[in-house]
Amino acid sequence: MTDEQGSGRHVVILGGAIMGSFSAWFLRKQGFAGRITVVEKDATYAFSSTARSAASIRTQFGTPSNIALSLFGVDFFRNVKAHFGPQADIGYRENGYLILGGPDVVTDRMAGVAMQQAQGADVIALTPEAVKTRFPYLNTDDIGIGTFGQTGEGWFDAWSLLSLTRSGARAQGVEYIEAEVTAILSAGDRITGVRLTSGDTLSCDLCVMAAGAASGRLIATLGVKLPVSPRKRTVFSFRAPVDGATFPMLFDRSGIWIRPEGKGFIGGIQPPADRDPDATGDYEPDHDLLQDPFWPLLAHRIPAMEQLRLERSWAGHYEVNALDHNGVVGPHDQLSNLIFATGFSGHGVMHAPAVGRAVAEWIIGGRYATIDMKPLSWNRIRDNLPMIETVVY
Ligand SMILES: Cc1cc2nc3c(=O)[nH]c(=O)nc-3n(C[C@H](O)[C@H](O)[C@H](O)COP(=O)(O)OP(=O)(O)OC[C@H]3O[C@@H](n4cnc5c(N)ncnc54)[C@H](O)[C@@H]3O)c2cc1C
Repeated sequence: MTDEQGSGRHVVILGGAIMGSFSAWFLRKQGFAGRITVVEKDATYAFSSTARSAASIRTQFGTPSNIALSLFGVDFFRNVKAHFGPQADIGYRENGYLILGGPDVVTDRMAGVAMQQAQGADVIALTPEAVKTRFPYLNTDDIGIGTFGQTGEGWFDAWSLLSLTRSGARAQGVEYIEAEVTAILSAGDRITGVRLTSGDTLSCDLCVMAAGAASGRLIATLGVKLPVSPRKRTVFSFRAPVDGATFPMLFDRSGIWIRPEGKGFIGGIQPPADRDPDATGDYEPDHDLLQDPFWPLLAHRIPAMEQLRLERSWAGHYEVNALDHNGVVGPHDQLSNLIFATGFSGHGVMHAPAVGRAVAEWIIGGRYATIDMKPLSWNRIRDNLPMIETVVY
């Protein structure tokens, strides 16, 4: 970037939750000297995916790109005080992910573990007997394999992370304005600005799309088709007579997930495809999922969970990229000052530090200096070439 690190340029970031805030924070950290404005329609973030997330991080993915993003996230979370100061605390806890598979997937999972290890992830494969020894409360009768992240997997508090990143960005002169973008404006091959509900327009030299589940709808105002839309995911919070101290994030072969949270647990299950429509505006928890199938499946895997006591539930939106359930990062092919940081389909909090850094690298240097984001580029959307990710939940 010329002109004293972009000092005459204005970056407008659409959406001020975890993706938008990490993009802004890294832009400043890496020396971008121009103006940065984050436009966020709801300063409480009450309905953002970030605030409603399960905030967990795993290195068990099926693609080297996603593993690389996670490994950077792990390093960032471990060193959160170095980034944000000695008071910074995101409650980061590395209890690991335990992913259970049936006898039919043993060969594939073993190959997956070998690939993950080759990428630097500390993941091991466990026999059913080893799973039972390590996690005696589990019923392993129908299990063929467990894969477990010994280090570098766990969870944290997404709200604390967002607060730290947002205030860190503001302390470096990033301006947050509370306003809703109604349209993105262009002329020729450039984004020129955005229109707000007030009727005002905000002009820009670069525009970062970080509006989460609303990204597809918002970018449609430009005539661009981005297959990212909201899908509702319900989280149940409950107490149960099981010790959570060393309990992992458990992904069962049935599709349920559960992990400790506070003095109890949180868990959920993806609804069946025919009950998973575009959820724009719908944040009502799907209570039916608790009775069937979540609870019976959970009690099958952990008999002590027969006695769970529901305390509360909430629903949030996965920002699902219908092409391949992976993020979209980097520039649009024709509107070259439009940069994507969206579509992470349920794994965006863990990947936000790496994505924010990549966005900053691209804006400042016109290339990725660390993790190569080309596998996640817009061009695969344009060309309808999915990046297949096998470890999807
Ligand atoms: C139940 C659940 C569990 C999850 N668990 C995990 C997990 O364990 N690990 C993980 O990594 N990820 C998880 N995710 C996914 C994760 O929450 C998202 O990938 C991530 O939060 C996406 O961040 P974002 O900043 O792109 O989107 P958001 O957090 O949704 O932020 C987008 C922001 O854009 C704003 N906005 C939207 N439209 C406009 C507009 N027109 N004008 C101005 N502002 C606008 C919104 O108000 C919002 O604040 C989970 C999600 C859910 C729902």
